[in-house]
Amino acid sequence: KNLTKNYERKKGIFTSAKKKIHAVDDVSFSMEKGETLGLVGESGCGKSTLGRLIIRLEEPTYGKILFDGVEITGLKGRRLRNQRCHFQIIFQDSFSSLNPRRTVGKIIEEPLSNFGIEREKRRERVGELLMLVGLEAEHAFQYPHEFSGGQRQRINIARALALQPELIVCDEPVSSLDVSIRAQILNLFRDLKKQLGLSYFFISHDLAAVTYLSDRVAVMYLGKIVEILPTKDLESKAYHPYTIALLNAIMEPDPKQKTTQKQLLEGEPPDASKPPTGCRFHPRCSKAKEVCCRYEPTLKEVRKGHFVACHLS
Ligand code: SF4
Ligand code: MG
Repeated sequence: KNLTKNYERKKGIFTSAKKKIHAVDDVSFSMEKGETLGLVGESGCGKSTLGRLIIRLEEPTYGKILFDGVEITGLKGRRLRNQRCHFQIIFQDSFSSLNPRRTVGKIIEEPLSNFGIEREKRRERVGELLMLVGLEAEHAFQYPHEFSGGQRQRINIARALALQPELIVCDEPVSSLDVSIRAQILNLFRDLKKQLGLSYFFISHDLAAVTYLSDRVAVMYLGKIVEILPTKDLESKAYHPYTIALLNAIMEPDPKQKTTQKQLLEGEPPDASKPPTGCRFHPRCSKAKEVCCRYEPTLKEVRKGHFVACHLS
């Protein structure tokens, strides 16, 4: 609810002056148990920060996070740890997120020993987890560098599953993989969800990957969620000009349609320390009206389960 995260960054090397970055700005949404909510947007729009806020890897400047009715913002020490087993994260870089000096077995075991599970049981569980993600129990004795990118991401997934979480934040988990491997890992996510009843908060700049896995899609632009809708409605009912531009970028050109009508995205997203006035998208929006430069649109439900932040909606 109303999640906000501001950072301070130095303005340059030769100055101590600081600028405030509004990474996440007043974002509210909810997720159902067993749901996959995809979060899409250009790099630097605040997606990763939002994912890290949700599982308390970062503290919000403002706002609340509730998990299964329990407010987890502000929890500390043991009470936070008790909640932590419910939510885990998988990072984009499958290499730096695995300690090169430890065996795969030790890496996957770590969360289990943090929660005081006995050694025998831990070993057994590591074998089960490796098989669950399509590896073999013997892989526990090898080191991360002995595996390919896709296999390393499987190890990351196994570690994230160790404590039987309910929610996994997946922060661009396939972006660093070869295209041929991506589909395999996406399918693994899909199978695990079915088998274990998981919920995913699935972050990606790749709308195609997001639509493949998600029940609903949330679109983020410069720290704000500008549209949320069911994935099945994305192609036919998406409304926000930014969502349409993202869609147009991945759709096959239709020979019957004049391509000149396509709204495509131009230019770079503006500096997050100085977001444009009014609607943040207005400098790049082909539909912008005068009102757009002055007033910021709020996220409103335009149809059941479909939310849009645009003055023209
Ligand atoms: Fe474009 Fe205006 Fe809608 Fe913003 S509010 S997306 S500028 S039409
Ligand atoms: Mg990111």
